This record gives sequence, C-alpha cells and structure tokens, in this order.
Amino acid sequence: VATRQSGPTRAGIGQRSETVRRANLSAIVRQLHLRGPLSRSALVAHTGLTRTAIRALISDLVAGGMASEGPAIQLGIPGRPSPIVRPDPTRFVLAVEIAVDSLAVATVGFGGAVFSRVRVERPRAHLSVDETVAELARLARVVLARRPAGEGPIGAGVAVVGVVRRSDGFVSMAPNLGWRDVPLGERLTQALGGRVPIRVANEADLGALAEWRRGAASGVDDLIFLSGEVGVGAGIIVGGRPLTGAAGYGGEVGHVTLDPAGAPCRCGSRGCWETTIGEDALLRLAGRPAGGGTLEIERVLAAADAGEPAAGAALEEVGRWLGSGLAGLVNVFDPSLIVLGGLLGRIHPYAGRIVEEQLDRLALPAPRGLVRIVPAALGTDAPLLGAAELAFEPLLADPAEWLGQREALAAMASA
Ligand SMILES: [Zn+2]
Repeated sequence: VATRQSGPTRAGIGQRSETVRRANLSAIVRQLHLRGPLSRSALVAHTGLTRTAIRALISDLVAGGMASEGPAIQLGIPGRPSPIVRPDPTRFVLAVEIAVDSLAVATVGFGGAVFSRVRVERPRAHLSVDETVAELARLARVVLARRPAGEGPIGAGVAVVGVVRRSDGFVSMAPNLGWRDVPLGERLTQALGGRVPIRVANEADLGALAEWRRGAASGVDDLIFLSGEVGVGAGIIVGGRPLTGAAGYGGEVGHVTLDPAGAPCRCGSRGCWETTIGEDALLRLAGRPAGGGTLEIERVLAAADAGEPAAGAALEEVGRWLGSGLAGLVNVFDPSLIVLGGLLGRIHPYAGRIVEEQLDRLALPAPRGLVRIVPAALGTDAPLLGAAELAFEPLLADPAEWLGQREALAAMASA
C-alpha cells in the first residue's frame, strides 16, 4: 500500500536511496552473470556507475557471498591494475528441457557456466506426464549429485514444447506431446522435493532469451527466434522486452493458418504454418516416413548433399513456406534479426536463398530491407540455457533480496 507524502521526508529519501542501491546492485549482478569475471574498471564502463559506487556495491556482494574479488591480472596495460570481480559459482540453478524427442537437465552457475548437463533421447511413444516427471526427477538427482559441495539450487527453470501459463507453469496444451491441461509446475515442484522455486515457460520463448543474452542475437533488441522440430514456435523480443501475451500463451506462430485448405494440425485446426515447415512436412515432401525424427531428417539433408532431386525439391518447398510465413512476421514486428533454431537452423544452408527470395517478394520493402536471417548460435541447447536464465531472473532483478536471505540463513544456522 502506497502512503501519500506531501514532501520529501527523511524516511522517503532513505527509501529512495535504498531503491537506487538495489537497482545498481542489479545492474552489476546482471553484468557479472552475462559476462563472467570482470575488472572493476570494466564494471564501471558497462554500468555507467561511478568507481566509488562500484567499490561499495562490490563489497556488499562479497560480504553477501555472491561474488569474490581477486588480484588483478596485468595485461601489459599501463596504469594500476583493476581487481577482478568473480560471480560466486555456489549460486546455481537447475535447467530443464522437455522436447518431443529428448529430455535434458543441467546445472548452470551464476556467471553462466554450465557445470553439468545430461540429455536423454526418448521414443515418441513414451511421452506420458508421469513418465516424464519421474525421468526428470531422476536426471535432476544425477546432475545435483555431481555438485562437489552438495549445495542446493536457488531455483529451477523449465522449457517445454507447449502453451504455458507463466504464473504457475500450467501447460494448457502441448499438441506434440499429446498433453492437455497439465499442472506441470506443481508436478515438478512435488517431484523435486517442494523446496526449489520452479518457473516454466515455452521452449521457443526461452530459446529466444538464451540467443538474446548469449547467442546470435546478443545486443539486438528487436528479434524473433523461430524454433522448429515437429512443432514450430516463436520467441519474440520487442524493444528489449520478451513478448509473452497476457498469460504467457503468446508467440504460437506455428499455429497461424497459412493454408485453410491444408493438412490437419495436431492443435485441431487446419493448414497451420507448422504443417508446412515442421519436421513431418519435410519428411512427407521428401518421400520419407512421417515421424522418422532427426535420423530421417539427416538422411534428407545427406540426400540433398548427394544431389538427389527429391530431397532438394522438398527443402526448397519448405523454404518457400518458411519465407511466406516470415514475410508476415516481418511486416508485423519489424525485427532487425530472425534467428532460426532447431530443424529450421539445420535447413538454413539449404533453404536460405529461397527464404530470402520469398521475403523480397512478399514482405513490405522497408522492414524487409532491415532484417537479417541467421541460424541459431547455441544449437539445440538454446531452450535449456534459456531455462537457466529464467531461473536466475529473480536473483538478477533484485540481488539485495538474496544477500539478505543468505545472512538470514547463516544467522539461523549459527543460532
Ligand atoms: Zn495448429
């Protein structure tokens, strides 16, 4: 509840300076997380804060166990060397990915280092919620057992190929897993012992987050990450803010109808974009068995490399539909970069030229002239790394809260 104040009171000024301190701590912690160990001078350069402010804030971070400061490395630069600030690696998160063909779990430290990572392929017939949750709990135990000091994660992030409500991780539908109305956040919280806060989001949204923070879209504030495997989804970042929609359901561009007379889609509609550029579309066009997965896709690409006309034609056809859909997205969002992930990144070398031609034909000239299309830089791990970023968000947004918590925990332990 906000209290009305007629003028600047002492308490009001105190509150404001505390708000500023928290915001400045957040700016430093974000830089350390994004870039890893940094010198004090680099922190000054990247945050715009004064040297004096940086010194005080770093001492807070060191006292709160969130960073350490070590001797400077003199790299032949004249002048006094600046001490190096290192993010404390005992603060880490659990990252989880639920894809159609695989499950992955990793531990990722504050500062971005991936400590441990496991990915298991799984047959498409075994996608039940119960089996998935049990397997993820097992994989989480595997990666956590590799932590030398046995500490627990500060949070967990989950990327899932489905339509997700952000507030509680409820999966409204995941057509390519055959899931509907699954309280995934709640199920995973129970399976992981109830102590770790869990945040769940759509895998394309998280792939976008990872490519934006650490990959092909680093430094770009208007981008679309388009991820394709069996299904197709987009993570959209507009003016430096991820676009989620009112509840988190946004970005499902794979279910925009491109061809009302087209093939039925797993979502219940017809002629959705993913029925023209998803994995099954490419396999069908190339005359390969539908549902053949990554293995069959690689065979199509090998056949195209060998000059087999059917494979080349199939890739061109997918490229045409890919370009048609992208032209619409370019007109709506005016992105400066489109990052193609998963299968779409894989086919980019084969279909890229057709995609560019379609954009020339179909998109408005002004936004078309500004946009570049590139394959993802982080490969298939983009959503997993984005899940880690999601789990770190509370710490990055208000690190002061976490310093306090650490002190409270220490006080409790010593009492
Ligand atoms: Zn659909």
